[in-house]
Amino acid sequence: MKKLICLLIAVCMVTSLAACGNQAQTEVEERIGIISAMDNEVALLLSEVEIDHVDTIGGVDFHVGTLHGQPVVIMRSGIGKVLAASAATAMLNNYPISKVIFTGIAGGVGDETQVLDQVIATRLVQHDCGTITNDGFVWSSGVAEEEMGEKDFYACDPELVDLAFEAAVQVVGKEHVFKGTIATGDQFVSSEEYVQKLQQDFDAIACEMEGASIAAVCTQYGLPFVVIRAMSDKADGNAHESIDNMGDLAADNSSRIVIQMMDAMRG
Ligand code: SAH
Repeated sequence: MKKLICLLIAVCMVTSLAACGNQAQTEVEERIGIISAMDNEVALLLSEVEIDHVDTIGGVDFHVGTLHGQPVVIMRSGIGKVLAASAATAMLNNYPISKVIFTGIAGGVGDETQVLDQVIATRLVQHDCGTITNDGFVWSSGVAEEEMGEKDFYACDPELVDLAFEAAVQVVGKEHVFKGTIATGDQFVSSEEYVQKLQQDFDAIACEMEGASIAAVCTQYGLPFVVIRAMSDKADGNAHESIDNMGDLAADNSSRIVIQMMDAMRG
């Protein structure tokens, strides 16, 4: 009888250890975090992902699954720096994320980029951070210098930039892909004057409302990231009309590039 009890205890211990091992294994499986701001920016990705489960945290749905062979968490944060940073933080605190890709649409800055061209950010900056003085607005990055990849700018991971660039070339063709600075702020830019300022002050080639805040969070967490954006408009007086007409198509193009990145990672 004693022998039988000992045997039972031993079996229980081995089984629970094995269960522990399995749990530890699933918990450390690293996932790629894919973030967008709006429904149309995640629509194609959600139609392609094999979903394991969906968690709702802070009102945001986190789709945990496999996208073209890669373990991913996909979420739509909502528009603007606050919602993007808050949802990114929730993602990084709740899942074992190895790298972050932001995909979506943006306004093209300057003559270089046209509607439906693709921009791969090499660095990002908050264009609306600074001081209101008696002489007007004086810009400053708003972030401690030692936290920046490059003074005043958040640098994207060079390997992810290369991967995204190659994927974009495959999807939309070399002549439609640009690398450069993306300027982020909590304003929808629909002004020729302001868009010119973004080009002059920051050498920006696109502007949007979330990228630099995702970059800030990833930098704090020490995670590699890249922001990729398809141009839905030119951030000029016609921007609203353009986004209404071209936004969905642009959003899908950018998602296709993410899928191409997953395929390239699989080899
Ligand atoms: N149709 C939407 C408008 C989207 S706001 C609505 O009425 O709610 C713009 C979104 O697209 C943001 O997530 C931003 O990152 C991006 N974007 C596209 N063009 C932009 C522009 N010209 N200026 C700023 N953000 C732009």
